Amino acid sequence: MRVPPPGSPLVAVLGGGQLGRMLALAGLPLGLRFRFLDPSPEATAGAVGELVVAALDDPAGLAQVAEGARAVTYEWEGVPAEAARRLEGRRPVLPPPIALEVTQDRAHEKELCRVLGLPTAAFRLVDDRQGLDQAAADVGLPAVLKTRRGGYDGKGQAVVPDRDHLERAWSEVEGRPAILEAHVPFTRELSVLAVRSRDGTTASWPLVENHHSGGILRGSIAPAPALSAELQQQGEAIATAILEHLDYVGVLAVELFELEGELLVNELAPRVHNSGHWTIEGAETSQFENHLRAILGWPLGSTAAVAHSAMVNCIGARPAPEQVLAVPNTHFHDYAKVPRPGRKVGHITITASTSEELDSLLARLQGLPGTTEEAVA
Ligand code: AMP
Repeated sequence: MRVPPPGSPLVAVLGGGQLGRMLALAGLPLGLRFRFLDPSPEATAGAVGELVVAALDDPAGLAQVAEGARAVTYEWEGVPAEAARRLEGRRPVLPPPIALEVTQDRAHEKELCRVLGLPTAAFRLVDDRQGLDQAAADVGLPAVLKTRRGGYDGKGQAVVPDRDHLERAWSEVEGRPAILEAHVPFTRELSVLAVRSRDGTTASWPLVENHHSGGILRGSIAPAPALSAELQQQGEAIATAILEHLDYVGVLAVELFELEGELLVNELAPRVHNSGHWTIEGAETSQFENHLRAILGWPLGSTAAVAHSAMVNCIGARPAPEQVLAVPNTHFHDYAKVPRPGRKVGHITITASTSEELDSLLARLQGLPGTTEEAVA
């Protein structure tokens, strides 16, 4: 690949997974260069930029990745916050490291929501086995026990249908500090992606409907079906409140539960997000491009949808490109990762001019490798 010449603006990215790769794929046409820090020499973003192979908290690796960068960003919320802080004095680190500190601990995330008056599931902090009994009595069952730190894609959490399952749930979180959340009987799961630029301008994409299984995102429909102006406005208000409170710059994803027309905040991701992949083909400006525009202080692009879109993850296995492309209006994104059970190795986006057309095209993807229920298990 012919990359922009040395001297063109360099973006440093902590993490070199598919999100970093897609950031570079959006940034290369803008004349940007990319350098990634990742512990794996196989990191998929290495194909589209320089790769510094070191632990994400390695001081020499951090110095090397940030050298000469216009901005430092991250593509994973597990990046050690201290690593981001270490670079802060030298380069703009965006989103600000406070966003990592808040989102790496579910208790901090819930506290942020409380301060901003944003509704969440009822919850209690749980530090020991006895505390779990008390929390169950307070929030009621069914509930979900989640580790405060380190959980993703449904890992580090256990559903507690009744008191008989408390013991098992406690052993599943391995006695780590946790929170017990009331189980929300949601109508559906949505997310809102929003972006804030260095000058404080904010914009939100249309809300997205998300489908999970086993805690892993299987697919999204965008805009969410039957999305009312009120619901969009509620979602945008939630995202904007968080962006402004954290003096945030870049793309933020907020996962939401819809319950009787109201939105509850489930969790935040301080980065581009899987539920925003549809924006590459389905919106005027993709989440990746707007993230770059934001962190570089460039004008943001329109977040309007240009189509009805569906995004389908390929998990644990990848279909052949020609299988996907046999269905009209499909776009295939292969992350060039070795398939393993539960691992996201690519995604498919379908665009259509009506929701009926979208449904019928989606039906034609049924059964492709990586898109079936078994692929997730
Ligand atoms: P999380 O890692 O918190 O995003 O949770 C993963 C998935 O588990 C969510 O997308 C929901 O499908 C489900 N889930 C998590 N928390 C709750 C809850 N309090 N009530 C109902 N479902 C939940």
